[in-house]
Amino acid sequence: MSDSRIPLAGVIGSPIAHSRSPRLQNYWLKRYGIQGHYIPMDVAREDLENVIRTLPKLGFVGVNITIPYKETVMGIVDQITDRATLIGAANTLIFRRDGKIHADNTDGYGFFENLRSNAPDWDPKAGPVVVLGAGGAARAVVASLNGAGVPEILLCNRTRARAERLKQDFGLRVTVVDWVQAGNIIENAELVVNTTSLGMTGKPEMRLPLDGLRKGMTVTDLVYSPLKTHLLQTAETAGCTVVDGLGMLLHQAVPGFERWFGVRPDVDDATRAAVMA
Ligand code: NAP
Repeated sequence: MSDSRIPLAGVIGSPIAHSRSPRLQNYWLKRYGIQGHYIPMDVAREDLENVIRTLPKLGFVGVNITIPYKETVMGIVDQITDRATLIGAANTLIFRRDGKIHADNTDGYGFFENLRSNAPDWDPKAGPVVVLGAGGAARAVVASLNGAGVPEILLCNRTRARAERLKQDFGLRVTVVDWVQAGNIIENAELVVNTTSLGMTGKPEMRLPLDGLRKGMTVTDLVYSPLKTHLLQTAETAGCTVVDGLGMLLHQAVPGFERWFGVRPDVDDATRAAVMA
């Protein structure tokens, strides 16, 4: 690619109209005065590899990957970071000048940065963390909690076998607990993380008993639509520190933007407002 080309990036998924990434990335492009564009791309599964191999020739410097292709792209790219390999999925591709496609997963990074920014008093080493859910997002969350030295991760998923598989991949610090016991283990946690889709607009509400929530705990929800889920509302009423899922979405986008466009963007109130507008 010649250096005079305007750099292009985007997000690939199907469907893609709901994605907030174009709004976020185009906000940063404008804010930092960078000539470039970021577009949503709805790609059919049978076209995925062809599209990904063609984009660099059109001037693309990379893309984000979202549902349902985060796992599929692992079989298409040339190089995969250790953390993406561990998680088994990628959300950020970098199209290198030597023609190689490099895949990373920044969800765990985004999760952790969101907590660091919005719950600075939470100490990862202070005690157990309850993780609700064992899907793709949970794998990124557990990887980042493991990396931060959390002493015990109590993992609770409706489908127990999926939680058991996650434990096999992530090791001894993970204890699988039955979904029906979720309400009972919450009271022992320093941090509670919802990685299920429960509480998201259009999905069932979270109906777990939440009376174990108490002052001093930190509670975070990966769901960001609505911003204040039932879990976060209940936690706030109980005096917990609450952290919504929008910050994770913003922070996970930072490494990709920096690699593609050469500027490390800020995640601040103006960024939140731009994405929520
Ligand atoms: P996924 O792989 O499909 O996993 C969905 C999870 O939700 C599974 O643990 C599933 O349990 C559980 N679940 C779904 N319906 C349920 C129900 N009725 N009762 C109990 N559990 C239920 O999805 P994902 O990629 O992990 O995403 C999960 C959520 O995180 C989504 O809401 C997504 O938008 C959000 N997310 C947010 C960010 C962010 O940046 N804030 C990033 C990634 C994901 P089973 O295994 O039993 O089906």
